[in-house]
Amino acid sequence: MIDKTFVFGHTNPDTDSIVSAISMANLQTELGNNTQSCRLGNINKETAFALKTFDFEAPTLLEKIEDNSNVIMVDNNEFGQCVPGIENAKIKMVVDHHRFNLKTDEPVHCVTEPVGCTSTIIYKLYKQNDIDISPKMAGIMLSAIISDTLLFKSPTCTVEDKKIAEKLAKIADVDLYEYGEKLLKAGTDISDYTADQIINIDSKPFDKNDIKFVISQINSADVDGVFTRKTELENSIGNEISKNNLNLYVFLVTDILKGDSKALVLGDKSNIFEKAFSVSLDNNTVLLKGVVSRKKQVLPKILENL
Ligand code: MG
Ligand code: MG
Ligand code: MG
Repeated sequence: MIDKTFVFGHTNPDTDSIVSAISMANLQTELGNNTQSCRLGNINKETAFALKTFDFEAPTLLEKIEDNSNVIMVDNNEFGQCVPGIENAKIKMVVDHHRFNLKTDEPVHCVTEPVGCTSTIIYKLYKQNDIDISPKMAGIMLSAIISDTLLFKSPTCTVEDKKIAEKLAKIADVDLYEYGEKLLKAGTDISDYTADQIINIDSKPFDKNDIKFVISQINSADVDGVFTRKTELENSIGNEISKNNLNLYVFLVTDILKGDSKALVLGDKSNIFEKAFSVSLDNNTVLLKGVVSRKKQVLPKILENL
């Protein structure tokens, strides 16, 4: 249909990418615009739990985007983490909370803020446009904030994220902390995943100065349990490295209870990681105390050292 606008987040979508697509498409629809929410990959277990709890269907899977399609990018503004064909789409709007890394030929309506979650920004867009947030919509938007801020434990979390989460919990009529812990727990079950699936639950590619690298992250309530599969994980990471000519692969297993991350690091430039964190890898691993945020605590350090 002409003039339809597609809304989507990043590849290997997390809860915020899925929820932002749904809530932003709904806001646009309420404003009278023909809009469709999409996803750029499989729904993870945490997101599935949130969608089921609040009775939502997963958005449509989008494998490529036709030339000149209208799009709204949410929770992402990097072509390298987006759908094939995005270079030739018409980007109408960006709503995001990541580093800004987008170049366009035409002006774009950008709403980016350094808050903990895209859904926090979308909440404010609903308010600005005087559109009500339904209890079930509030439930998934709340889920996205809990997910992205690790229930407010991440250094990316702002006072505003927390305040808005509290408001959303009221609208959704849920106990914020009780629900939050259940949601995060739901995302940690990897027992039926292959090593390939595990490293791709939430992996993001980056490059700078001809260095190609990936930072992948999973949440866990049993980090040692994950590392019993270290050899298997190393094999999968090794395959990714050769398949995509990567120089560095950082796999973070984030302890949602302690707020630390154990990193498994491979690649011919793993010395960059050691330099960035002033650590020595022991059998490719190191514990990063207090590190939970890829965007704020890991990516900038690596970029600085490239
Ligand atoms: Mg995200
Ligand atoms: Mg996000
Ligand atoms: Mg995330």
